Amino acid sequence: MSRIQILDSTLREGEQTPGVYFDTHIMLAIATLLDKIGIDFIEAGHPIVWPEIKQGLTELTSSKLNSVIAAHSRTLKKDIDEALDTGVGFIGIFYCVSEERLNGVYKKDINQVLEQISETVAYAKRKNSEVIIRYTPEDTVRSEFENVVKASVAAVKAGADIISIADTTGYMVPGTDRNMYDYVLRLKSEFEKQGINPKIAVHCHNDRGFALANAIDAYRAGVDIIDASVLSLGERAGIVDLAQLLNTLYLDFGEEKWDLSLLDKLYCLVSQYSGVPIPVNTPLIGDNAFTHCAGVHSQAAIQNPVHYQSIPPDLYGKEQKICLDHMSGRAAVHYMLSKIGHEESSEEDKLTILRKVKEIGTKGRVVDEEELRHIVEWNNSNGGGKN
Ligand SMILES: [Zn+2]
Repeated sequence: MSRIQILDSTLREGEQTPGVYFDTHIMLAIATLLDKIGIDFIEAGHPIVWPEIKQGLTELTSSKLNSVIAAHSRTLKKDIDEALDTGVGFIGIFYCVSEERLNGVYKKDINQVLEQISETVAYAKRKNSEVIIRYTPEDTVRSEFENVVKASVAAVKAGADIISIADTTGYMVPGTDRNMYDYVLRLKSEFEKQGINPKIAVHCHNDRGFALANAIDAYRAGVDIIDASVLSLGERAGIVDLAQLLNTLYLDFGEEKWDLSLLDKLYCLVSQYSGVPIPVNTPLIGDNAFTHCAGVHSQAAIQNPVHYQSIPPDLYGKEQKICLDHMSGRAAVHYMLSKIGHEESSEEDKLTILRKVKEIGTKGRVVDEEELRHIVEWNNSNGGGKN
């Protein structure tokens, strides 16, 4: 029985990408697709930041999606009031607990912070006992472990349901002494000793390129919720990529609970309205994700896709593509000719066409089906095409 839940933060963390802002009608379009895919929580903004964000959250909560809509909030009663006004079912509060930040920035000691966390969580629960509360000790993994535990215990005893481990700066590295797997186990065992049993979430930033690997480490160590965003959008290098996370959980860990075929549409939508392009080599989603190019690869992939593909493209509503350029061989040309109804071309014609394809490829272009038709016509007008 699967227990893992996914929180998508494209509309909150993703909006922290420089220049990205989603209008309320686009927020709804994105949330609707996330809901159809089967995402459990949609974190859609910090309502006190901007009136339109609050408006967007209010519209999402009244749109009858199955996903629970979540708001971000500082550990302040006025933020909680704004969040509760929108009707969200989930509020994520955060407060740092590192001595360096507390002394240098906030001029507070840990006991004052614990009191503020307890009071704020209890206030939210008093106003709405149904609302799910997540507490995040910001920059969890670089903060004093003792403070993380104290703050988590205070939050849970005041009513918090979830404690989120934030790798705010993308600091964790798998296989080293600061790996996420061991961190999760250590925190879980400490919580057990303290007599608390909250759900555990994980929020991994991608500064070192390990966000997905750290999230999978956390999954293996038994976390309940993993944060992700479309196209990894977020502060700096962003967070865990949603499609890559779902793919690994689905294909490699047997969590077959999402409709992955809608991811392509979701990524195109987010890319269009965020202005962030999808690189062609983006796993699963990019134009080249299921495209075979080199002659040897194409020949083998045409015979049987598994030779050079470990992910079935139809899971994503896509199909294997063979590209024609200077790397192509006869098998690729034959395959592409058969796709456009010219499989009967003579060997001589195929060679002429292959030479033309290679010539175009050396100019840095790829021949698509339409151009291949033009090449066939050009060859015919030069005396080819006679079987
Ligand atoms: Zn973040």
